[in-house]
Formats: sequence, C-alpha cells, structure tokens
Amino acid sequence: MTVAFISNSDCGRHDTGWGAPEHVGRLRAITAALKNDLDLFTSLHHVEGRHATPDELALAHDPAYIRSIEALAARGGGRLDADTVASEGSWAAATAAAGCVLDGVDLAFAPQPMRAFCGVRPPGHHALRDAAMGFCLFGNVAVAAHYARRKHGAERVLIVDWDVHHGNGTQALVEQDEAIHFVSMHQWPWYPGTGEAGDRGNGNVWNIPMPPGLEPAAYVTALERGIDAATAGFTPDLVLISAGFDCLRGDPLGGFTLEPHHLAEVTRRLGQRADAWCRGRIVSALEGGYLVGRVGDGVVAHLHALAAT
Ligand SMILES: [Zn+2]
Repeated sequence: MTVAFISNSDCGRHDTGWGAPEHVGRLRAITAALKNDLDLFTSLHHVEGRHATPDELALAHDPAYIRSIEALAARGGGRLDADTVASEGSWAAATAAAGCVLDGVDLAFAPQPMRAFCGVRPPGHHALRDAAMGFCLFGNVAVAAHYARRKHGAERVLIVDWDVHHGNGTQALVEQDEAIHFVSMHQWPWYPGTGEAGDRGNGNVWNIPMPPGLEPAAYVTALERGIDAATAGFTPDLVLISAGFDCLRGDPLGGFTLEPHHLAEVTRRLGQRADAWCRGRIVSALEGGYLVGRVGDGVVAHLHALAAT
C-alpha cells in the first residue's frame, strides 16, 4: 500500500531548547534516517501537511484554551506546565502537528486510500481538553479521531497507543464517544500516573499497564491481546496509531525493551487487520521517543511495515 510521509516545516518552530528531551532534533533524525534508506524514501508520497483550524481543534479542545495557546505564542511564549513550554513558533507548530494528522485522515478516506505516517511535533497524547501537559499542546490523534467521525462519517475508530507513557490526554478526549476505542500500553507505575487496567473509560478504553524490563515478546503479546479485546465485535473504519518510540530499549524516559523490528511486527499485523476491516486505512502519528537515533530507526522500520500489506 502506498504510504504518505506527512510533515510540516513549522513543526520545527516549537522551540523547547536543546536541553529538553522533546526537541527539533527528533524530527531531523527521522529525515536523516529516511534519507539513508533511499528505496524507502523515494517510495513514500511526501506531503507538506496543513495547519488545523481553531474549529478543527475545538472538536476535542476548549475554544478558550485554543485561543490562549495562540495568544501565548504571539507574546513570545512561556511555560505551560512543569515539562511543557511554548515559544513564538509553537502555535504554528502545534496547529501543523494536528493538521498533518487531519491530512492523513483525508488521504485514508480518499477513493484510493493511502496510509500515512505523520512526523510531527509537539506530540499530543497527554494534552487535555483545556490544558497542555507532558510536552503536548493539542491532542493530534484525538482531534483526528473526532474529525474522521465528523468529516468522513467514520462509524468506528480504533486508536492504538504504544508510547511508553499512558495516553491520558487521548483517553480524556475520546472516552465520551463509545464509537472510538482506545488501547494504550504503557509502563506502570510511571508518568503520568494514570492508566490502570481497571480504568475502562466508558467501556471503550483498554489500558495495559506493564512493568519495565520484560522480554520484548511480553509487550508484543500484551498489546496484541489489547487490540483483540478492543476489536471484538467492533470493526473499525479507521485505525490511528500513537507511535511513541520511547518504548524502544534504552530510551531515557522509559524502561521497555522493544527493538524497531518488534514495532514493525506489530505494525504489519495491524496492517493485515486494517486490510480486513477498512481497506487498510491507518494513520500513524509520532508521539514520544527521546533517543534520536532510535527514533529514526524505529520510524524506518514502522514505515516499511506500513507499506508491506
Ligand atoms: Zn512517551
């Protein structure tokens, strides 16, 4: 299947400083890794994504919060929470990050569906309805899920989040809509402290808390079982992936032990399922991942696997 690589140069304008784990070097590492795999690089459909509009962000966020981020950036930026800052370019970056994922959804629902990976920042899965959190300003994937429902009439959307941290923001932004099923596998106990197995949202959330340091197969199996549970009697029209590469071994912000080929295996199986469910529609978006070389390797493996089915 043809895979689009969607990004926007404005994503580099979210200036967190080189001392922050989440910095623009993460996106540069992805570009560098892609250029080292010329066959893959040339096979991708490269798209400069658009900026999400305030109305689109309001599918998941409080309009006053959206305006406050725009105003903060216009004033030159500032601190949003203990881990999260905004700079002058952060409004352009954050709206581009969300807009790229919306473009991915549009491509997924085109007459000839295309898969997409969105190389975007700031990440999104900790952002709350009216607050930034954990490096995240807007819930890029949660906004995309609501957009797919509203714009493309998707009746059922599956979100798979394998970032090493619980996607608490995504859960908060989608759990009221039972037509969106959310699976999050994450280290436990760990930041942000939520995501225990008994927290099922409105019955549409499958949290998979896992200890650090297990054999990789344990994580792969647990995630597959979570996807099985979330799709029993539920055939998605679209699969969204919150692709956090901080689940890879050695990440400074996580203790999972996965290698890029494990994520490729999960991606391939999800691709096969999506082929059976929904004409193969998958839109994947970058979340965490803080060892930049590993992020590049992980994205390359993930993209090969997206293209494989
Ligand atoms: Zn993370």
